Amino acid sequence: MTVITNHLPTAELQALDAAHHMHPFTANGELAEKGARIITRAKGVTLTDSEGNEILDAMAGLWCVNIGYGRDELADVAARQMRELPYYNTFFQTTHVPAIALANKIADLAPGDLNHVFFAGSGSEANDTNIRMVRHYWALKGKPSKSIIISRKNAYHGSSVGSGSLGGMTAMHEQGGLPIADIHHIDQPHWWAEGGDSDPEVFGLERAQELEKAILALGEDRIAAFIAEPIQGAGGVIVPPASYWPEIQRICDKYEILLIADEVICGFGRTGNWFGSETVGITPHIMTIAKGLSSGYAPIGGSIVCDEVAAVIADGEFNHGYTYSGHPVAAAVALENLRIIEEEGIIAHVRDVAGPAMKEAWESLADHPLVGEARIVGLMGSIALTPNKDTRAPFAADAGTAGFICRERCFANNLVMRHVGDRMIISPPLVITPEDISVLITRARKSLDEAYEILKEQDLLK
Ligand SMILES: *Cc1c(COP(=O)(O)O)cnc(C)c1O
Repeated sequence: MTVITNHLPTAELQALDAAHHMHPFTANGELAEKGARIITRAKGVTLTDSEGNEILDAMAGLWCVNIGYGRDELADVAARQMRELPYYNTFFQTTHVPAIALANKIADLAPGDLNHVFFAGSGSEANDTNIRMVRHYWALKGKPSKSIIISRKNAYHGSSVGSGSLGGMTAMHEQGGLPIADIHHIDQPHWWAEGGDSDPEVFGLERAQELEKAILALGEDRIAAFIAEPIQGAGGVIVPPASYWPEIQRICDKYEILLIADEVICGFGRTGNWFGSETVGITPHIMTIAKGLSSGYAPIGGSIVCDEVAAVIADGEFNHGYTYSGHPVAAAVALENLRIIEEEGIIAHVRDVAGPAMKEAWESLADHPLVGEARIVGLMGSIALTPNKDTRAPFAADAGTAGFICRERCFANNLVMRHVGDRMIISPPLVITPEDISVLITRARKSLDEAYEILKEQDLLK
């Protein structure tokens, strides 16, 4: 058998990858032609690839490596836990110390009466839990007709059948028979793309009031919950107008529907608070968590549940769970990650140092001829590419053409920045320093300049 190591030539690894590895969210045929980029190691905010390139990872992996790469403490904790108790389940009236300790720590950090944690292996699994939990909650309260969950178009809540249905990604719904029944999608508060000539705050209010309209149209007795990301991430880092969330909270309160905040990206410091709900000023009944919970060092997710919902669910058996719910190694790693975030003041660093430095630098990109708006909250930011800043016009090409060109230039300039359609997005490790930020902005500007020239050559700037 071939031993596959970092020492094989890149082309050989790429061929082996193409032969047997199916990549998620990828046109695998196309990738096989081109060859995947191979990442071999990482430290802090920097990735190294198999060609020795050092790349600034302005996406923190997939929005998850909050404390940065290369923290030996997490490796040590994982090794210790694997030796002591690599696995045991939490199904049949048993538990273990890592799950106990992590649930207690999360309850401690979460605001208000969000005091109970149902563990999962990922954000998708946690949102599947939420679908079943809120429907079961209402059934136990004698209102089984309350089964509809309202979500938003262009939301991302995961990729399983349930969580992909909650999400509002049409490209996902087109494949595999999604969405499942009783999920309803309203419009998103995306002023830049959909606000036309309206004032952003008026638009934000209108988009929030779509929730009330949907509740009245579908019938209050049919609605179980509303789910949303405090700030949409995968949809393009869409910062809602300030008017949006207070109105959503008012509507959820008025009609007594459960509010689920999907904190998978916003949680654990991303927006300058422990949770995005604190940043946007809402009080959810359930939070979905994953990603930054372990800074991606181990796969783990969960639902943080308020006292009232947990008390109702505690009546009888909730026929739900995952083999890896509260996995001891993942839980121990997550606990160590939270210790580092807390003891090293990483959230204060986002709020007081990296966030303000990034905001100034990021918003300065708005003077670039290709950039329409530059938005950032804490350390999640986006810029909208446009051929016309005044009209916010799209390009005369398929959506995503310009974004893809820009992303390819970023890669070539050793910067990982993603594109969602024609928005460029960042979500760097929270430990990013002001020095890293100036490198990031220099590379971003260079990439934008190069993308501009390419778009000009292709006659796409009209
Ligand atoms: C990534 C993500 C998920 C899904 O998490 P997985 O761990 O990939 O299953 C859910 N919600 C949001 C907001 C996400 O960004």
